[in-house]
Amino acid sequence: MGEYLLRCVAGGEVLPEHYTLSCKEHSGLIRTEYAVQQLTVRQELPGMFRYLDWLPVRGTLSTRTRPMTFQSKELCRELGLPNLWVTFTGYYPERECFVPTGSFKELEALPTVVRLAENGGGVLVVASAGNTGRAFAHMAAEFGTPVIIVVPESSAKSLWTVIEPIDPDAIKLITIRGDYADAIAAADRIAASPGYLSEGGAKNVARRDGMGTVLLDAAVTIGRMPDHYFQAIGSGTGGIAAWEAAMRLAADGRFGFEVPRLHLAQNLPFVPMVNAWKERRDLLLDRDMPNAVEAVSVVSAPVLTNRSPPYSVPGGVFEAMMFCGGDMWAIDNAAAKEAGRLFSGVENGIDLDPAAAVATAALISAIETGAIAPQDTITLNITGGGYARVREDLGIIPVPVTAAVTANGIPRL
Ligand SMILES: *Cc1c(COP(=O)(O)O)cnc(C)c1O
Repeated sequence: MGEYLLRCVAGGEVLPEHYTLSCKEHSGLIRTEYAVQQLTVRQELPGMFRYLDWLPVRGTLSTRTRPMTFQSKELCRELGLPNLWVTFTGYYPERECFVPTGSFKELEALPTVVRLAENGGGVLVVASAGNTGRAFAHMAAEFGTPVIIVVPESSAKSLWTVIEPIDPDAIKLITIRGDYADAIAAADRIAASPGYLSEGGAKNVARRDGMGTVLLDAAVTIGRMPDHYFQAIGSGTGGIAAWEAAMRLAADGRFGFEVPRLHLAQNLPFVPMVNAWKERRDLLLDRDMPNAVEAVSVVSAPVLTNRSPPYSVPGGVFEAMMFCGGDMWAIDNAAAKEAGRLFSGVENGIDLDPAAAVATAALISAIETGAIAPQDTITLNITGGGYARVREDLGIIPVPVTAAVTANGIPRL
């Protein structure tokens, strides 16, 4: 279980595993190759670790967090899509979804914490627009894994846990007077010090294969790979992850051989990858992200505002789109809000993460433009939701701010 090697996508060489994030010789991503080609779902293992065969870890952690695939009869009826499936990673007890921090970033955090422990350990440094930081804060609270979380000041309110930390010193929260891009830069400065380790973002295979369990869960539940996969993206890591999981499922042989078309959505007015994709070219800072600071400040889903996504790199978002086909969608706040309201109305009042509302709105646009046919099999990746229920059922405990620094500052830790 979990036996794997790491391979450089661009050069093809096998790399040693010591929480390795990149190849020294080539740019682009590295990828896992698993010893087992056919997936065994290990129901006896906790939460997402049922997919241990295709996670870069040997051990597990105690958790109920997993993606959960179900059919919402009412949503199917409302949208006229009989073969629509929702894969939900959030908190929704009626559907047996118990992700305490409410987003699919926990699918990243759980295997990352295990991968790190199995490969030397260290203090993780995580830059976040909110959800990733909260997921890692929960890991620190529950398992004592030390983490430094760097977020823009405006995201500090998204940092909470649902339990008292077993070791309060394990979590250090740094707020930056700036946006997500400034938080990423500050995290890089901190991670350059000895003993600290960048979590890695898209470069971290544990993050990608963790997020890839969404498609695994969909395929296993439906009995085949869907024709279409819808997700809102900021970095696009989840889209890359879906592609990689799809290639593994195709090689498995029991879930069909055609990979799902990817429908990846961003939130207007900040839609750099949509712009680049429409013209089938590399991402261009000036052209695709004009007035980035202002654009980022007005979107309803701040987790979708990554300014340096792994788009053009070997193994990145562009290659994923070229391989799978599909499209990218630009969704405005009003359409997202409306889609969120629709979901909430048919699913017990569950509030969607604004990003998941963007994905739902993209699905609606795809119906309207005829990009999908009514009988197609579709997976809608609901990447987060149920926050109101988390507050009600579990209660939340804010993470205290350790240090607040200016955009170019380095906190003393
Ligand atoms: C991070 C996040 C996304 C975007 O994920 P990618 O890394 O771009 O794949 C979408 N929805 C939610 C709720 C998120 O937290």
